[in-house]
Amino acid sequence: MTISTADTVLVVGAGIMGAGIAQVAAQAGHPVLLFDARPDAAGAAKEQLAKTLETLVGKGKLSQSAAAETIARIEPIPTLAFASAARIGIEAIVERLDAKRALFADLEAHLAGDAILATNTSSISVTAIANGMRHPERLVGMHFFNPVPLMRLVEVVSGLQTSPDVADAIFELGRAWRKVPVHAKSTPGFIVNRIARPYYAETLALLQERAAAPEILDTCLRGAGFKMGPCELMDLIGHDTNFSVTQSVFEANFYDKRFVPSLVQRDLVDGGLLGRKTGRGFYTYPRQAEPAHESSTASGLLAPRRVVVHGNSPTSHALVQLVAPVLTGLGLTPERDPESAWTGIQVDAARLALTDGRTAHELAQKFGIEDVAVFDRLLDTDTGALPAALAYAIHPESSPPWKAQAAAWLAALGFAPQLVGDTPGLVVARTVAMLVNEAADAVQQGVCSSEGADIAMKLGVNYPAGPFEWLANWDVRGVIAVIEALDAAYRGERYRVSPWLRRHV
Ligand code: NAD
Repeated sequence: MTISTADTVLVVGAGIMGAGIAQVAAQAGHPVLLFDARPDAAGAAKEQLAKTLETLVGKGKLSQSAAAETIARIEPIPTLAFASAARIGIEAIVERLDAKRALFADLEAHLAGDAILATNTSSISVTAIANGMRHPERLVGMHFFNPVPLMRLVEVVSGLQTSPDVADAIFELGRAWRKVPVHAKSTPGFIVNRIARPYYAETLALLQERAAAPEILDTCLRGAGFKMGPCELMDLIGHDTNFSVTQSVFEANFYDKRFVPSLVQRDLVDGGLLGRKTGRGFYTYPRQAEPAHESSTASGLLAPRRVVVHGNSPTSHALVQLVAPVLTGLGLTPERDPESAWTGIQVDAARLALTDGRTAHELAQKFGIEDVAVFDRLLDTDTGALPAALAYAIHPESSPPWKAQAAAWLAALGFAPQLVGDTPGLVVARTVAMLVNEAADAVQQGVCSSEGADIAMKLGVNYPAGPFEWLANWDVRGVIAVIEALDAAYRGERYRVSPWLRRHV
C-alpha cells in the first residue's frame, strides 16, 4: 500500500489544523481537495495560505514558482460529492465523536473503497470513531501538532481495528511530508498529551502547597533545559485548553487519581484568567520585567576547615570539578568519600545533599544533624552544561549561618540558587521522575516504544531530551526512590511506580 504524490489528498475542515495539513500536502506535491462545512471557509483558507506563502517568498524562504505551484494544487470543493478522486481523506473538523462518525460515514460513501481515511483527533479514541464504519480497518489517526507546517511530529494512531498496512502507509506518508512519524496505540492522550501531564501537574501541586512562586518554578525548569517553564507554558496554551486536555485524560482513564486535574488551574479557568489570550494567567501580560530577586553570591562564603565531596554518582564527579577551584581560593584541599551512600558536599559538619526524594528535614533526622540542605537534580552532569538556576531547600531547624552558607556554596559552585519549600524531590527531580514514570507506563501498555516516546516528547513538546534518555543518565532505582518518597509524603494514587520501572531495576 504505497502513496505517491500523484495521489489526491482530501482535507476536511479548513480551520487551523486543516489549513496547515492542506499546505503540507500541497507543498509535498499532492493535488489537494479542501472541504469545510462553512461555505466560504475552504476558499478563505486558500487565500490566507497564498498570503502566508507570499510572505515566505518575500523573506527569500520559498521561490515564487514553488509558492505558485503549491497554491495551484489546492482546490476548495463545495460538497463531498466532488471528493471522489481522493485516495487519502484526512479529517480535521470539530472535536466531537458524533460529528466525526457522521463524517467518516460520508467519506466511505464518496471515496473509493481502497481510500485511506485518517483523523487528526487529539483526544477521541480512533477505535470509537471507527465504530460503525463499513471498513473500520482503513481508519487511522494522523495526529499533527500546531502549527502543522513547523511541527515535525506526527503520531500515527492505531485503533483496535486499524490495519497495520494502513498505519504503515500513513507512517510513510508522514515521512514523505518531511515529518517524523511515531506509531502509537489509541489510548487517552496518545503519547505526547499523556506523557506530558506531569510537567504541568507537578508544578500545579507545588503551587497548591505554596512551595514556590510560578517565577521560581519556571526558572528552575528552564534551568534544566526546558524551553518554557510550566507556568508560562500553561499561560501560552491557555488554561481552558490545558485544563480540558487534563480533564479528558482523567475522565478517559475512569477517573484514575494519577491524572486528577488541579484546583489551582480550575480556579484560573473559573475566573477567566486563561493566560496570554485574556491578559492574565499566572502572569500579567504584556509581561513586566521581573524584579531581580535577591540571589546569594559566593562572596558571602565563610572559610570552612574541611570540605568533603560524598558519593560516587555522576553528580559527585561534577561536584568534585566544581568545588576544586573554590577550595583552591580558600586555601583548602578537597577531600573525597566515594563510599558514602549520599551524594553532595559536606562543609565542616553541615551537609548539602543531592535530593534522593527525601526532604532536608528527613535527611537531617537520618544524619542526626540540623544543618542540612538539599539541592535539585542536575539533568546533565557535564560541567559545561550545568544549569544556571538550581532549586534547593533547607531544613527549617538549620542554624542561621548554615541557611546563608548553603546558598553561598551553591552560588560559589556556579549556580543561581532558588529557595523552595522542603518538599520531596524538589522541582526538577520530581517532575522528571514523574515524566519518566508516565513514559514507562505508556511503553509497558504498548502505547509506543521507548524510542517513540523520546522522539515524541522532543518533537511534540520540545523537551530537551526524551524520558528514556533522562533515565539512561539517572538510574531506575533513583527514579523509583523519588516517586516512592512522593508517595510516602502525599499518599494517593498519583505517585504509583510503573511496573516497567520495577522490572528494569
Ligand atoms: P478549528 O475550529 O480551527 O477548525 C475546524 C473546522 O472544521 C472549522 O473550519 C469548521 O467549520 C469545520 N467543521 C466543523 N464540523 C465540520 C464538518 N462536519 N464537516 C466539515 N467541516 C467541519 O479546529 P482545529 O483547531 O483546526 O481542530 C481540528 C481538529 O484537529 C480537532 O479534532 C482537534 O482536536 C484537532 N487538533 C487540534 C490541534 C490544535 O492545536 N488546534 C492540534 C492537534 C489536533
